[in-house]
Amino acid sequence: MNRLVRLLSFASVLFTLAHPVIAQEAADPFHPHIRTANERLRAMMSAGVQVSPTLHGIVKRIETSDVIVYLDMHILTTPGVAAQSQFVQAAGGRRFVRVVIDSRFSGAPLVGLLGHELQHVAEIAGEPTVVDPLSLAAFYRRIGFKSPAGGTNRFESAAAIATGRRVMQDAIDHPSEVNAAVVRVKQAAASAR
Ligand SMILES: [Zn+2]
Repeated sequence: MNRLVRLLSFASVLFTLAHPVIAQEAADPFHPHIRTANERLRAMMSAGVQVSPTLHGIVKRIETSDVIVYLDMHILTTPGVAAQSQFVQAAGGRRFVRVVIDSRFSGAPLVGLLGHELQHVAEIAGEPTVVDPLSLAAFYRRIGFKSPAGGTNRFESAAAIATGRRVMQDAIDHPSEVNAAVVRVKQAAASAR
């Protein structure tokens, strides 16, 4: 458990321009502002919103903002980094953020990482001056601190650390709902084969 908390605390905000290909990803009708093509993330988001009032509140904040976030999973190779958020672009009255979570996580820790990163997205949503990676860095110099993991351009906030832990605890306290989501995804993957 100590290891999990440490990994969660190192989930970070990374300030680089991401790839323009992001605009081609499918919208998720289930949360218009929180989009993913990843079935596992979709299932864990559903379970997380069900069991965690904190995550539910964050989702509502993002849904009523001008921010669109794309969630994805792959293996993150930077030591100590379990997840990261990047500002992509501001365009057409929308601001686009990308969240990537290390695909080696599952269950309650994965739900906690979603809570952590979506708290960063809600922080960005509440700060209209954030319009590019530089203004994002300036914002996190004000409200956050340099992350101990992964180099100079990574920042962290105390609120995201606390939120990630709270959401993970909500998931730990509701194992049947979270496990049901894990089983649903495995069954869907098996029937697709
Ligand atoms: Zn963070």
